[in-house]
Amino acid sequence: MAKGITTRAADYNQWYIDVVLKSELADYSPVKGCMVIRPTGYGIWENIQKNLDRMFKETGHVNAYFPMFIPESFLKKEAEHVEGFAPECAVVTHAGGKELEEPLVIRPTSETMIWSMYKNWINSWRDLPILINQWANVCRWEMRTRLFLRTTEFLWQEGHTAHATREEAEEETRRMIHVYRDFVENFLAMPVLVGLKTQQEKFAGAVDTYCIEAMMQDGKALQSGTSHYLGENFAKAFEVTFQDKDKQTKFVQATSWGVSTRLIGGMIMSHSDDNGLVIPPKVAPLPVVFVPIWRSDEEMATVLGAAKKITEGWDPLFFRIDSRDQYKPGYKFAEWEVKGVPIRIEIGPRDVEAGTVVVVRRDTGEKQTMPTTGLREKLVTMLDEIQNSLFNRAKERLQSRTRDCNDYADYAKHVGDGGFFRIHWCGADACETHLREKTKSTIRCIPLDAPCESGKCIVCGAESSRRVVAAQAY
Ligand SMILES: [Zn+2]
Repeated sequence: MAKGITTRAADYNQWYIDVVLKSELADYSPVKGCMVIRPTGYGIWENIQKNLDRMFKETGHVNAYFPMFIPESFLKKEAEHVEGFAPECAVVTHAGGKELEEPLVIRPTSETMIWSMYKNWINSWRDLPILINQWANVCRWEMRTRLFLRTTEFLWQEGHTAHATREEAEEETRRMIHVYRDFVENFLAMPVLVGLKTQQEKFAGAVDTYCIEAMMQDGKALQSGTSHYLGENFAKAFEVTFQDKDKQTKFVQATSWGVSTRLIGGMIMSHSDDNGLVIPPKVAPLPVVFVPIWRSDEEMATVLGAAKKITEGWDPLFFRIDSRDQYKPGYKFAEWEVKGVPIRIEIGPRDVEAGTVVVVRRDTGEKQTMPTTGLREKLVTMLDEIQNSLFNRAKERLQSRTRDCNDYADYAKHVGDGGFFRIHWCGADACETHLREKTKSTIRCIPLDAPCESGKCIVCGAESSRRVVAAQAY
């Protein structure tokens, strides 16, 4: 056990909790199921937000903000939606010292609030499309919670778009799942499968739900983002119509899509190790930390002076010099390691004399001595290498732990060991339910790139035309 962190081999779930707490990403709140996101965790979220927000804006979206209180009657307007969300809703019944005439639901998601407003904003085809995103918190009263992966209140973004035609809305739904794939693969270094959810697993109120699914180090799946084609369901519930070019009155077509602070949980479980957190450089709040080493005041002045000189003109957000005198270097090494800073630089009096520093990679532990000239450029290159190597390692895991499986007994025996299983499924609800109840696994997605291939349903033996991916999931 390094620094109070349980090893992955000993207890994977405890390891995860230890990493989150010891790296100071988050802490438990006084309210059960809620989480306090500490500065390191919030710094990662800010980097997720900043980069995704740019990608949303580059694809034509704008941000707005809608209130968190939703009249209870709104939620009841869409039958599937209320059925899916009602058990998880927190409801405000009293405010201002008296009972409310109508209870207010704390948003579990904002479709109903937003479509009640779109009704006022949309009259003609000229008002379309509307491409709005909101960064917000939502509340879902979960029975079993886990830091970042499932908490009662969490942070997310939710896009809500309105379109004149089905084709355009479906195109938007697919566009956004690919934006998520791009982001998660390129910034969080998590390779994902892109696919369609089954009707049982889709969003409550959607026609179709697209998803990205990642594989964690224990082989379990993590749904990392979803994009929904909502058809006319919400337009009908809120009577949102428009006059089209052909003068006909039509219902507006909708999409919604979201990712949340769950991505941080996925990032931790994809890359971190028994020594603590490993953060992909592109979302690391602090990419490089200098730990100067001294024994006397004179040495302290020398090494701190040298570190300052080396970093002159560098972006202050790129690095930090850990000049704290109350901690020994060994303590600092361990702290920055647990906190997942991608590169640590050690500089002592002898390094200063030689014009070098010792550079240590967090992901591999590899140490090398480097000259201080041109150091910044070399660090930038090294950060790219770390980013790529984290992705490649995760990709190898995804590939090596995904396999075809044609035999139910084989599946039932091994699905609990983790990994993705490409199985034939006839499409029947009963077979999907059987898998969930008997093997605690779910059909994660029907991959978009799944080729046509005839086979027999692993549960009932009926004809199937292509494989789906099934696994146990978080
Ligand atoms: Zn079947």
